[in-house]
Amino acid sequence: MFDINQVVRPNIRALKPYSSARDEFSEHEGVFLDANENPYGNLNRYPDPYQKALKEKLADIKNIDNEKIFIGNGSDEVIDLSFRIFCEPGTDQALTFSPGYGMYQVAADINNVELLTIPLNTDFQIDKKLLENYLENPLLKLIIFSSPNNPSGNAFKQSDMEFILQNFNGIVLIDEAYIDFCPEKTVLPMLAKYPNLIVSQTFSKAWGLAAARVGSAYASKEIIALFNKVKAPYNVSLLNHQAALNALDNQEQFEQQRAIILSERERMIASLKKLKNIENIYPSDANFVLVKVKDANQMYAYLVQQKIITRNRNNLVNNCIRITVGTPKENTLLLDALKNKEI
Ligand SMILES: *Cc1c(COP(=O)(O)O)cnc(C)c1O
Repeated sequence: MFDINQVVRPNIRALKPYSSARDEFSEHEGVFLDANENPYGNLNRYPDPYQKALKEKLADIKNIDNEKIFIGNGSDEVIDLSFRIFCEPGTDQALTFSPGYGMYQVAADINNVELLTIPLNTDFQIDKKLLENYLENPLLKLIIFSSPNNPSGNAFKQSDMEFILQNFNGIVLIDEAYIDFCPEKTVLPMLAKYPNLIVSQTFSKAWGLAAARVGSAYASKEIIALFNKVKAPYNVSLLNHQAALNALDNQEQFEQQRAIILSERERMIASLKKLKNIENIYPSDANFVLVKVKDANQMYAYLVQQKIITRNRNNLVNNCIRITVGTPKENTLLLDALKNKEI
């Protein structure tokens, strides 16, 4: 049975969090002489430490209790907090799949936590046989991966993700940064069943707010309470909070852009398939495609020369380049550049 007290670091369990002025008093009306703010201006007051307005909206949209939602300074904050809360530096371990998102290794290194990496199978799906060897390991506290996966682009099978949740007694962080491009593949409904699940999402991709730095996490009240305890008191600025609220109020624009991006992805895939210099195009549930070419380093350098910047993933997946779906015009420029080159 999963027991949160078995997986949280003892010092975090015992931690008495900082209580900020706006924690203790956050009404809108009154004379505020408690936080050493300048009384003049528009951005002079500290923001809501718990981003209640945004949580209320997300609670409605996702049909999840406010107390099961955390807002972070990008979902990268959720990743870092998960290591800090659940993995004892120098002792505990975490696990991820390869190829995967590079930030997991960086967050593990910063927190001095060993990150075990096991390869995905040739379809970029989870190899349950390999994984099984690790699930009983008492030092393993956190399994972290993204679905849809970056850089391969595919979502993992729901049954495989559920297998992990069922058979692992630590925390499972499923990073759904790209889930808005395949909303039917979310694992959010599994939250009701699995107290060890954390789902992170972000405003950085489909919502078009990468510059604003707003991410979210959904988990049990107990896990969210730990996040709130450890986070910086004012981790999301008023401007970022407002940007996310505005985006949610503009659902129509979101859906329009997503529809264009998804149809452009299909156009891009169809055109790439016809090119001799493209050896493989991997199935994508996201706003990018991973393609295999003859020589990724050469192809990448050629595209840079053409002022088209892609992501060379050659060191992660042999001779593969990750291409983000841009505007129709940008995608056509990419396709034209590829048509004209025999690499
Ligand atoms: C882009 C991306 C993110 C986004 O991180 P933010 O901090 O929310 O901008 C998270 N996870 C993966 C796998 C990504 O590719």
